Amino acid sequence: MERVELEKNLVKAMAEFDIIDCHEHLGPEKRRTDSQVDVFDLIYSYTRLDLLTAGMTDSDYQSLHDHDLPLDQRWSLLKPFWEQIRWGSYARVVLLAAERFYGFDDINDDTYVPLSEAVAKANKPGLYERVLRDACRIRTALTLSDTTRLGTPLLTPLVRMGYRFSQTDPHPYQMVRTWEDLSSPVFGSGEQIESLDDYLDVFRRYLARCKAEGVVGLKMASSPTGPPVRGDAVAAFEKLRDGKESILPAVNPLRDYVVDQMISMATEQDMVVAVHTGYWGDFRNVSPLHMIPILQRHPDARFDIFHMGYPWPRETLMLGKRFPNVWLNFCWMHVISPRCAVATLDEAVDVIPMNKLLAFGGDYGRAVELVYGHLTIARENLARVLARRILDGQFSETQALALARKWFWHNPVELYALDLPAQDG
Ligand SMILES: [Zn+2]
Repeated sequence: MERVELEKNLVKAMAEFDIIDCHEHLGPEKRRTDSQVDVFDLIYSYTRLDLLTAGMTDSDYQSLHDHDLPLDQRWSLLKPFWEQIRWGSYARVVLLAAERFYGFDDINDDTYVPLSEAVAKANKPGLYERVLRDACRIRTALTLSDTTRLGTPLLTPLVRMGYRFSQTDPHPYQMVRTWEDLSSPVFGSGEQIESLDDYLDVFRRYLARCKAEGVVGLKMASSPTGPPVRGDAVAAFEKLRDGKESILPAVNPLRDYVVDQMISMATEQDMVVAVHTGYWGDFRNVSPLHMIPILQRHPDARFDIFHMGYPWPRETLMLGKRFPNVWLNFCWMHVISPRCAVATLDEAVDVIPMNKLLAFGGDYGRAVELVYGHLTIARENLARVLARRILDGQFSETQALALARKWFWHNPVELYALDLPAQDG
């Protein structure tokens, strides 16, 4: 059978699979359906990164989402830059979603008005079910939002390790640098914190509450790290508390110790430790290789390594090959570069035990429709890898689909101990 035909058949067969979406940032549906939306709500998140790199100013980008400005004015801001990014895979996700849900196969002068009307008209309760359940066959999406009360079994919460983002610092994921970070942590609820143990106790209680609320994982980010030394951490804590230091360096002994303790607590709670690696900010500081000492120190933890560490996919594969406590998650990777995702997945079949791969996560926050576009590209990527190996005679179509089902369903169900009835096959 010709390769293209075989790929199409595989995509069709995979479209019948139930899916675990292994990473999103979706909040409660009501937030979306209570807000005003138009075509520009589909053009955000990762497309923003491409627009800024193409030369759009951030203030013009922000204006795209200012509903007080007329639609045609916003379109004229977007149009020249849309032309620059439209062939990229972030934009392709948007186009796939526009076509599937609203029937428009392009975003241009003729479509931006009726497409905006269609997006607004469909922005009603039931949106998540229509997109995630009906169009994507997603049974649940593991999601990191600012709340664990997500209001639907279609979303399963993770929580973050108390870091915050910096747009300007070379270290994009910031933790425990100031007294404010320590005395009123994002996971706290007003407790008095005087010592490092107070801080860690607040986190321990928070994590236990999260567990009771159905949280399945704790998210952290890869970062340069030193050995966790309690004495050094206490000294750094006290310097901040006593005002002898106002801000610690991004990489500091307090962080090393706190991260180490928090991973142990997540392990005690039987939660997965999800790890952002690669692509973000000054990505040298988020290299997947920074995780090695942590992986070595926590053999009993389960680490879900996100994004295949792009642009270090081979290094990330090596983490999966070397460490039994590592799972590899293709979330976001399929659309950073479909070509690289295909090459990496193909190489993964050679080097990684098949129970360690998670095939898909969309990584979107507001435009749930984009999950569909991303999943479409993920299925194409899997089909490309599997079709070639079928044609090479390495395995049958049935064996190929059994692998795809493991990656889309069985592996994430097992890793996250998801309480979902088994599906056939
Ligand atoms: Zn994410």
